[in-house]
Amino acid sequence: MTTPATPAAPEKMEFQTEVKQLLNLMIHSLYSNKEIFLRELISNASDAVDKARFEAITNPSLLGGEPAFKIRIEADKENSILRLSDNGVGMTREELIRNIGTIANSGTKKFVEQLSGDQKKDVSLIGQFGVGFYSVFMVADKVVLTTKRLGSDEPAMRWESAGDGSFTLQEADKAGRGTELEIHLKDDAKQFLDEWQIKNIVRKYSEYVSHPIAFVSKKEDGQSENEVQEEILNTRPPLWRRAKGEVTPEQHKEFYQHLTHDDGEPLAWSHNKVEGALEYTTLLYLPSKAPYDLYYPDRPHGLSLYVKRVFIMNDCKELLPPYLRFMRGVVDSEDLPLNVSREILQKNAVIQKINQAATRKSLALLETLAKEEPEKYKTFWKEFGSVIKEGFHMNWENLDELKRLLRFESSKTGAGEYRGLQDYVVDMKEGQKDIYYLTAENRRAAEGSPHLEVFRKKGVEVLYLVDPIDEWVVQSLTEFDGKKLVNAAKGDLDLGDLSKEEKKHQDEAKGQYEKLMKDLGEKMAETIKEVRVTTRLAESPCCLVADEHDLGANMERILKMSNQKVPESKRILEINPDHPIIQRLNALYEADPANPGLPDWYGVLVDQALLAEGSEIRNPAEYVKKVNGFLANVLENRG
Ligand code: ADP
Ligand code: MG
Repeated sequence: MTTPATPAAPEKMEFQTEVKQLLNLMIHSLYSNKEIFLRELISNASDAVDKARFEAITNPSLLGGEPAFKIRIEADKENSILRLSDNGVGMTREELIRNIGTIANSGTKKFVEQLSGDQKKDVSLIGQFGVGFYSVFMVADKVVLTTKRLGSDEPAMRWESAGDGSFTLQEADKAGRGTELEIHLKDDAKQFLDEWQIKNIVRKYSEYVSHPIAFVSKKEDGQSENEVQEEILNTRPPLWRRAKGEVTPEQHKEFYQHLTHDDGEPLAWSHNKVEGALEYTTLLYLPSKAPYDLYYPDRPHGLSLYVKRVFIMNDCKELLPPYLRFMRGVVDSEDLPLNVSREILQKNAVIQKINQAATRKSLALLETLAKEEPEKYKTFWKEFGSVIKEGFHMNWENLDELKRLLRFESSKTGAGEYRGLQDYVVDMKEGQKDIYYLTAENRRAAEGSPHLEVFRKKGVEVLYLVDPIDEWVVQSLTEFDGKKLVNAAKGDLDLGDLSKEEKKHQDEAKGQYEKLMKDLGEKMAETIKEVRVTTRLAESPCCLVADEHDLGANMERILKMSNQKVPESKRILEINPDHPIIQRLNALYEADPANPGLPDWYGVLVDQALLAEGSEIRNPAEYVKKVNGFLANVLENRG
């Protein structure tokens, strides 16, 4: 005998304490960005479909007469109800109670703890802590959920709550598998019934959800009232998920613009799918123009992160190092959890692996561009070269790649033209061991510097490092391709075989000028630390050089400009033994070592060395006075 079926009365159950707290917050405290409830519910529907698809892999018959998966949204304006349904996995009674009922998941407690009172931040936490379902109570005063579990004999269940601390459960009628939500919108949330609003939100957050999301509306012909039409909102499959060869350059440009809101075109892109221990896709774009805030310290930057096609966040800076912050693009990972948070990202091993790979891909993209499209690379270098150079600071990874990307002006280029270190090395003179550079304020100062004279004479190229950051770059960039980088204005210059003659000459001159140099050094001890015979000069009487490990004039200038304390460091005066001024001065000294005019000559020589390299002199008025004295003398003798 069977008892006649009496509909079971609804069973009332209490939410667990933390869920109650959470609901209370959703209902009373969170006002901003409420639209994300739709993202969360669609994401749940999409998960449910993923699970159903997975379970059906081993048992396709489970799907019965409904093999196609779908998520549907319908706005019932008459009753102020938004309906959302999926034909995913559904839930049993027990699963319902566990997932959206009495038991709080570990994220619930964390979410409540993390709340800061800052609306924007707090709402953004919802997606991160696995409490997405409850966000529906930001917009609803009643939610009815009917669900039927895939592959289970249990009857469908109806769950209902006003978010007030309890919910009811009872058996229900539902034909197919999956979950249906009836969202009774609050008075202040009626805008979510608006077709245009709904479509916009869905496109914004779920364009790349891999299952079709249909917007359902009544047919407008008025004849058949019950007939409905469905519009699929996410028709475009994500571009990065398509086969590399299927995406045209035109499509890449469009997508880049859609992604970045930059109406320019990317200079280059790199599209890679990685399958192995980790599975992910990277799509990287190199912009052609720097944004105005490229050097702002807290500027948001980074790639957009997707997990299994579900959008997670923009500006995920953990995916690339800061020196590649100009790159734009998408990473789509199969291995990260959907509710990944910023905090998790910072230490996540998957993210670190993807960061390494995206870094290598970006550097390779740049290197290829440099080789194959040098004009485009020049554009890139003008816009972003200084950012790339930051890669030499506190970084020991990919240095070889970074070195090959560097470009500088040099004594062999015109203004605005560049040479790479590799170009330099190829063109080195026979017998040349080192790579020479000069740091200076600008190209003109570099070109006029007396330090270059011997290089010009020998036809040896000197790189002009005229970007302030170059001073820091050369602290890490000490060699390239086995060759040392040498500052042309520092240390005791040794051009090796190229300066054999000069060395010999230097040795001979040493004895000849010994006394003059001693006197000069003593009288100018306040400004210089030593005097020696040069091998650097051809036309000038003298120049100042820094010791190998001292700051150098350019670095001093930069530090002073940024109001930093600069340690006093004296430089070495190098004199040119073949210059008539030095020769006459020597004669003057030998005729009378006590000649009272000598200190003025010394002072003018040192000041001129400073002026010639583009530095400031200590007392311009005094310098002018001395020079005028000399000029008056000359004119008198002529007259
Ligand atoms: P999360 O999605 O991060 O797990 P949610 O609060 O969004 O957190 O959802 C809680 C749980 O409720 C989900 O993990 C899932 O088990 C269940 N659930 C929610 N919506 C659905 C649905 N449409 N179909 C099946 N299960 C669902
Ligand atoms: Mg969810």
